[in-house]
Amino acid sequence: MEDLKRLERSLLSRARRAKTTQDVADLRAEFLGKKGPLGQALRGLGELPPEERPKLGERVNALKAKLEAALDEAKTRVEQAERTLQLAQGAQDVTLPSRRVVPGLPHPLRLVERSIIDAMAGLGFTVAEGPLVEHDWYNFEALNFPPDHPARDAQDTFFIDDKVLLRTHTSNVQIRTMLKTKPPVRILAPGMVFRHDEIDATHTPCFHQVEGLWVDEKVTFADLKGVLHRLAASLFGPETRVRFRPSFFPFTEPSAEMDVSCVICGGTGGEGKCRVCKGTGWLEILGAGMVDPAVLEAVGYDPDRVQGFAFGMGVERIAMLRWGIEDIRLVYENDVRFLEQFSARVRT
Ligand SMILES: [Zn+2]
Repeated sequence: MEDLKRLERSLLSRARRAKTTQDVADLRAEFLGKKGPLGQALRGLGELPPEERPKLGERVNALKAKLEAALDEAKTRVEQAERTLQLAQGAQDVTLPSRRVVPGLPHPLRLVERSIIDAMAGLGFTVAEGPLVEHDWYNFEALNFPPDHPARDAQDTFFIDDKVLLRTHTSNVQIRTMLKTKPPVRILAPGMVFRHDEIDATHTPCFHQVEGLWVDEKVTFADLKGVLHRLAASLFGPETRVRFRPSFFPFTEPSAEMDVSCVICGGTGGEGKCRVCKGTGWLEILGAGMVDPAVLEAVGYDPDRVQGFAFGMGVERIAMLRWGIEDIRLVYENDVRFLEQFSARVRT
């Protein structure tokens, strides 16, 4: 009994003097560990006469609880002290200038995509999306590219298997939208497309398009011209002139390429010396045409009742023309010094 009292006094006084959590942990191990005095006392019970065992066992267990409580209290105390010390040592100098926050900037391709969408939204076009990995039927067949038709050669395709491919244009979205919507349809289909091109200053195997589609009962080629002229003016400025040249696409008839007056020389050709338009005064920016009746039939529309026009353009090409970027690879290299030139946002 005397030993236990001495033990209690010793631990309580050392617990009060503990300065760190390590001190408390050491005390806990020393007094309450298996080889500590309490453990020994409990093991020694067996040597006592049976009538004394319960009494002493009770005392030992009571002491154990008391010591544990004292150590818990000491632990809380030193933890608070340590925390206070840490705060004092690590106090912040609130007068220091803060670190500069560098905000993200929209990528130039995203800016072009957005400006196309913004221009067309005012005419009632909404954005539609579809899968990048597509079935042949949505990418080709429904768009009037029969199997083995030579027009397929113009779009070198990444095939995943005989019938599944990486979409070569966003026209699959036109098909998918018409299949689930009754006319009128007025959509824009922006997104990534894939063609088996060698990488050079104007080609990459993955690039971006925005296509548009308007199908309704009285849509004519005049609507096509009016809408696309307005789009060109909003992308390249109100003075921009446009011209249409006959062309061929399987999914439109008639088809046209649209040129805009050169953004660099203003359409003069710079006395034949303008580098961007190669002296012609014109830049080709998109393909368009009246939706082929075969496409309307493929999605279950009645070509005698509705007509429509479609157009498509490369976002990279528009960006290159708009800002005079000479190498398409620059837009993918993610060099911040290049990318930050295109945003209107000013860094401070
Ligand atoms: Zn020019």
